[in-house]
Amino acid sequence: MTRRKPAPGEPAWLLKWVYVAADCFGMGKTAIFVSERKNLKPWQANPKTGDVRFSDIAGNTEIKRKLIKTVIDQRVSHAQLFFGPEDSCKLALAIAYAQFINCTNRIIPAQPATGADSIEAADSCGVCPSCVKYQKLAHPDLHFIFPVATTKRVTKKPLSKLFIADWRQFLLESNYQAGLQGWYEAIGIENKQGIINADDCMEIITTLSYKSYESDYKVMIIWMVEKLYYSAAPKILKILEEPPDKTLFILIADEPDQIIKTILSRLLMVKIPKSDILQHNAAEEETIHFTVFRTWMRNCYTGKVAELIAFASEIAKTGREKEKSFLIYALKIIGYCASMNYGQKLPPGVDGEELKFIRDFSPFITSAKLVEFNSLLNDAIYHIERNAHGATLFLDLSLKFVRQFKPIFVPL
Ligand SMILES: [Zn+2]
Repeated sequence: MTRRKPAPGEPAWLLKWVYVAADCFGMGKTAIFVSERKNLKPWQANPKTGDVRFSDIAGNTEIKRKLIKTVIDQRVSHAQLFFGPEDSCKLALAIAYAQFINCTNRIIPAQPATGADSIEAADSCGVCPSCVKYQKLAHPDLHFIFPVATTKRVTKKPLSKLFIADWRQFLLESNYQAGLQGWYEAIGIENKQGIINADDCMEIITTLSYKSYESDYKVMIIWMVEKLYYSAAPKILKILEEPPDKTLFILIADEPDQIIKTILSRLLMVKIPKSDILQHNAAEEETIHFTVFRTWMRNCYTGKVAELIAFASEIAKTGREKEKSFLIYALKIIGYCASMNYGQKLPPGVDGEELKFIRDFSPFITSAKLVEFNSLLNDAIYHIERNAHGATLFLDLSLKFVRQFKPIFVPL
């Protein structure tokens, strides 16, 4: 068996252990786990500028059309809530909408003689002074409020404006696909909970009391309004109801049910669905998960420890969100195996190779093993969410699965 040096971040003792184990079990050469993951970003901001115009956001045709029409018809509601799942494009759409409202040279195609709808081709110009500042998220009339907490750098009185440079970088790096956990990691608030605090609510009032600098509309984007601190909420009720002239509030949330009711009642609800492109990507991701899961289970069953360590180090490179989604997929397949054992129908869409694998694999998922597999996978998800070292966790999990399949022969 070819020996290699530990990869960066891979503990030397772990690799040594694997070679000892491989010697004990008479393993052959190391198979290479080939990652078939593709770049599954649902949409891409313009790489040259970081620009977010409607045309840069894939899918979402109907919602874009509705938003554009409110501007053309001059019916922009002053306080709107963009809500939808974490992986919807709601923040990108909010910024594209604000940029479109303030663009001084909007592209609005003439209505064709055929009577076809040309609205969805409308967009901001991308080159006027307002658009150029929006591209850098540095327009003086574009304001952001988001959950914050004290950090090593900001040790007291945390305010959104103290994190604005981190915020801009975070949005560009995450391709505007911002998630709360990723944001907390980006600013290093560790185990604290971020909130939108009373001081930030006062900032909203102060900021909006000034005249707009150079554009028609002042735009205040409040991201993750679920995190608005309960006792701070009354401070912004009045301004939400009667904002200064030409002010637009766009509040953003994953879960509108968690928003304080008095705030929610003052907002126009705009549901942002998961886009077609995202759904397509989710299906593609499941196909990849399936291929990886099938190989993983085969290697666990045959006790190929060297392959399992290669798998652990490869999957760890995909990052926490992908690791978690892979484990959730694994839980789903184990559940399907149990359903099959108990004679229940599988949901439509489970077919082809996936169905064949579930048929072949389900005899191994006895009721006792079902409990064990579920428990191991749920524990793994719990630890992934708490920053466990991916390669170590997946190797540990793999070896526990090996023991499930071969309880006598594997001394763990
Ligand atoms: Zn423009």
